[in-house]
Amino acid sequence: MAKARTAVVTGSNSGIGLGIARALADEGMNVVINSFTDNEADHALAAEISRDAGNDTAYIKADMSDGEQCRALVAKAAERFGAVDILINNAGIQHVAPVEDFPAGKWDAILSINLSSAFHTAAAAVPMMRENGWGRVINLASAHGLTASPYKSAYVAAKHGMVGLTKVIALETAEDPITCNAICPGYVLTPLVEEQIPDTMKQYNLDRETVIRDILLERQPSKEFATTEQLGGTVIFLCSDHAAQITGTTISVDGGWTAL
Ligand code: NAD
Repeated sequence: MAKARTAVVTGSNSGIGLGIARALADEGMNVVINSFTDNEADHALAAEISRDAGNDTAYIKADMSDGEQCRALVAKAAERFGAVDILINNAGIQHVAPVEDFPAGKWDAILSINLSSAFHTAAAAVPMMRENGWGRVINLASAHGLTASPYKSAYVAAKHGMVGLTKVIALETAEDPITCNAICPGYVLTPLVEEQIPDTMKQYNLDRETVIRDILLERQPSKEFATTEQLGGTVIFLCSDHAAQITGTTISVDGGWTAL
């Protein structure tokens, strides 16, 4: 039997990262899930994924705002499973404020977690992929990697940077059996987004359905959220042989947002 591939998914104890980790586990891959915490719940989640998928999933703590910890995450995953074949750079945070009021600390945190972490993990993982003769680097950018919105200076800058980094890694690995692409989701109903709904309902005195359609999904023409399962499926496609010649590009999963 062929050896299972190993995937590292940064920021994956919730939301999109967790959906992607589950999809990779269901394909029988070894999976490393990650966040900056080290709770019983984090390790229980890894055990639950292993049980459900019949694969080997491990939780490894690493704070993606720290370059050394980003590199150590890849090294620890390789130590545990023998290699890192698939790297999913997913960890991300958000802060919303006009540029003149944007806290400098938040700018630095968003740039380091949403962008620089992908530089550090890729720098650690690409040499292993070259050595093993196969690899996939998939960066979670956003519709905000291709378009902008007011009050999201750091997030939009980091996500545009993520698209640029994707193109450079793709060119540097173009002659190797390695691809690097960015996925650009529109709105996805993760716990983070779900939490915003009650406050927005109160703020605008609107019902849940109207808040979702007219406020959250204002720029998403399908008027439907993308799902974590759809993003997991997109990752599985990009990891397949069918996608071997897809590199250095973006795949939008945004219900038509960037067609507007
Ligand atoms: P989420 O808050 O549910 O998940 C973020 C994950 O990152 C969590 O697991 C969290 O623990 C982890 N994380 C945060 N800071 C970290 C740090 N310092 N070190 C390690 N891990 C850290 O959010 P989500 O909606 O699932 O977002 C995941 C990615 O998808 C992000 O990069 C986000 O920008 C992107 N994205 C989300 C949406 C959306 O609508 N939800 C749309 C486009 C892009």
